[in-house]
Amino acid sequence: MCIFCDIVEGKIPSTKVYEDEYVIAIRDLNPQAPVHDLVIPRKHFDNIVDMAQNDDGTYAAAVFDAIAEVAKVEGTDTGFRVINNCGADAGQSVMHVHFHVLGGRKFEEKII
Ligand code: 5GP
Ligand code: ZN
Repeated sequence: MCIFCDIVEGKIPSTKVYEDEYVIAIRDLNPQAPVHDLVIPRKHFDNIVDMAQNDDGTYAAAVFDAIAEVAKVEGTDTGFRVINNCGADAGQSVMHVHFHVLGGRKFEEKII
């Protein structure tokens, strides 16, 4: 059982901002910025490593297209940030690969 698989299947409600054959993008339940969406492949991969090993590139390409669509739909034209937490040490809490798209404010704080 995986909560993002349940969201993809509509068993858990979510607010969708974008969807296509391969991915959905939803609003994060606990937003850290005025725009905080999650781009989630419809197929379950644990993380980026799992996706790299078991996807022929289809889902990876769809993720990038979806990120660009989300930025357009949300109007984050002055910039946005994409974050992926990969694995427990990086703070990944839902073990279904997903990409945070954050925007709607200026980010002063930087890790790198
Ligand atoms: P992670 O910590 O794995 O990088 O990110 C997981 C994200 O999923 C968190 O930002 C958390 O707020 C979000 N999240 C967890 N459960 C749900 C849910 O049921 N619905 C939505 N929309 N977001 C969720
Ligand atoms: Zn899943």
